[in-house]
Amino acid sequence: MEFSSKLLEKAVQEMAQLPGIGKRTALRLVLHLLKQPKEQTAFLSQALTEMREDVKSCQNCHNISDAEVCEICSNAKRDHEIICVVEDIRDVMAIENTRQFRGIYHVLGGKISPIDGIGPSQLTIGSLVEKVKSGKINELIFALSSTMEGDTTNFYIYRQIKDYPVITSTIARGIAVGDELEYADEVTLGRSILQRIPFENSFKNN
Ligand SMILES: [Zn+2]
Repeated sequence: MEFSSKLLEKAVQEMAQLPGIGKRTALRLVLHLLKQPKEQTAFLSQALTEMREDVKSCQNCHNISDAEVCEICSNAKRDHEIICVVEDIRDVMAIENTRQFRGIYHVLGGKISPIDGIGPSQLTIGSLVEKVKSGKINELIFALSSTMEGDTTNFYIYRQIKDYPVITSTIARGIAVGDELEYADEVTLGRSILQRIPFENSFKNN
């Protein structure tokens, strides 16, 4: 790609660093911004900078939050004894959209995946196990995608907590194997949480 402006080229290069954005798309977006009023670009860069500077990880559930403790964890109306274990913040958003879950979450930050070099210590499994050991948790709902990595992660956690008095369940699989939670429709996902099954049943039947 030949650019008539170094400034334009630099902006396109930066934009093209984003996942799913090739150079052509990056150029289209940058040219679009150039046609907009200057304030538009200022709002965009300000929003990105503020988000990057100020966004926090909730001390309790590791959800992305503006405060030290997120709105879900600080809501006294939620059931703090039921924890839904999810891979990332997109899963929290998907489950919240169903309006079927009144407990709180624990965001792992990924799944155990040796191929990608992700081991248990890179995830927030330690603090989840500590919560269970504290005795204040009544139920853990595993809501990871049902891929091999998801199953491995569920089972790894289960092995560490199975001797503690906590109910473990997994969301019912109206969701096809390998589907990511965020793509499941709200009705299916909502139902799969309400119709969750004991975790033991999920692997004994296989
Ligand atoms: Zn939280």
